[in-house]
Amino acid sequence: MATSKFANVESAPPIEVFALNKAYVDDTFPQKVNLGVGAYRTDEGKPWVLPVVRQMEQQLAADETLNKEYLPVLGFEPLASAATRMLLGSDSPSLKEGRATGIQCLSGTGALRVGAEFLAHIGKHTVVYSSNPTWGTLYSLNVIESTLKLIYVIGNHSLVFLSAGFSTYKSYRYWDAAKKALDFDGLMEDLRNAPANSVILLHACAHNPTGVDPTQDQWKQIADLIEERGLFPFFDSAYQGFASGDLDRDAWAVRYFDSRGFEMVCAQSFAKNFGLYNERVGNLTFVAKDRAVIEPVRSQITLLVRANYSNPPNHGARIVGTVLNNPALTEQWKGHIKTMADRIISMRHGLRERLEKMETPGTWNHITDQIGMFSFTGLGPLAVDKLIAEHHIYLLKGGRINMCGLNTGNIDYVAKCIHEVVTTTQEASL
Ligand code: PMP
Repeated sequence: MATSKFANVESAPPIEVFALNKAYVDDTFPQKVNLGVGAYRTDEGKPWVLPVVRQMEQQLAADETLNKEYLPVLGFEPLASAATRMLLGSDSPSLKEGRATGIQCLSGTGALRVGAEFLAHIGKHTVVYSSNPTWGTLYSLNVIESTLKLIYVIGNHSLVFLSAGFSTYKSYRYWDAAKKALDFDGLMEDLRNAPANSVILLHACAHNPTGVDPTQDQWKQIADLIEERGLFPFFDSAYQGFASGDLDRDAWAVRYFDSRGFEMVCAQSFAKNFGLYNERVGNLTFVAKDRAVIEPVRSQITLLVRANYSNPPNHGARIVGTVLNNPALTEQWKGHIKTMADRIISMRHGLRERLEKMETPGTWNHITDQIGMFSFTGLGPLAVDKLIAEHHIYLLKGGRINMCGLNTGNIDYVAKCIHEVVTTTQEASL
């Protein structure tokens, strides 16, 4: 047989969250629990199509005036403008002054990618910083130059930014494992040492995977430093409304930066807050200091998108765009996000209460202090391995659990098993 020219290609490591999900699906144990996957589950452990989404889908299917023609390259305008307004708020100075614009993208990841390509190719940025840990991090490395092998092990922000043309990915300190809290001093020191023009990736709310956000006062100090050091803020907003149940509250940090007149971008995802994971609905909000740059920037992004996927899909964009432009439907949707956020918050309280009642060694207040879909439990790798192997409870190696995987039917079992592994495992991080 002829030798393939790809004979030297090494297999990339599996994506942890998908591999874990497969292991869960293949497990035949009746009480198995999936705390890995990043999606909402009802109290019955089922995925949830939001009622307002179902209603919109029926309406769209019945509407014979709609067709399957291409959307414009920058997407469905009613979605992009409503998403931008939802993020920045109706009092936004940049919106009022015509300095902000929105571009429909392929969910949050696609918005990150388009934003990163724009900043690399047109903005000539080369260095990006994201938190350690960040979304999809497998191992903690502090600096990665653009070598493909390392891209695969560090998580999604490096994967996206290095693939988009950035030459260097660095991380700033974020999580203090001993205190199970934000390492604010470490974060500030790392940003202070970042070279001017570095792009600083900030999770807008409900930091993934830690569930820990800076306080408002800390955000102010971060903004001061970014301004002083000439850094460029890039927000990643994957959980607006889903985190606290309140759209305005979850957008506080982004709106604060807007009120200070920063030039910035923000990638928005509608995967979680609309439950539209596989429809890939997202938006890239671009805020400039001067409205005159909006048109040239949009025209450059048009070429970047044209070269990537030409134009985005219609279905999910029309659902979100229609809901956000209709006050009655928006109210209905706000009720749904409240339902999801409240269920998560009640599971946080339930888990903490149970662990404290059993006097499980360690402190557990971080479970209710953290917000959003995830909790960074502080469980070490040995405890995680035991939970998976002995108790059929699936969670990520770093100790992140999806709170939505808990429900009234399995929370006692999960708490009991966590208690069991914590009391029987010797681990430095516990
Ligand atoms: N950023 C973060 C921090 C996330 O947690 C997610 C969702 N897991 C995303 C971006 C985007 O995901 P998607 O592409 O599915 O919208």
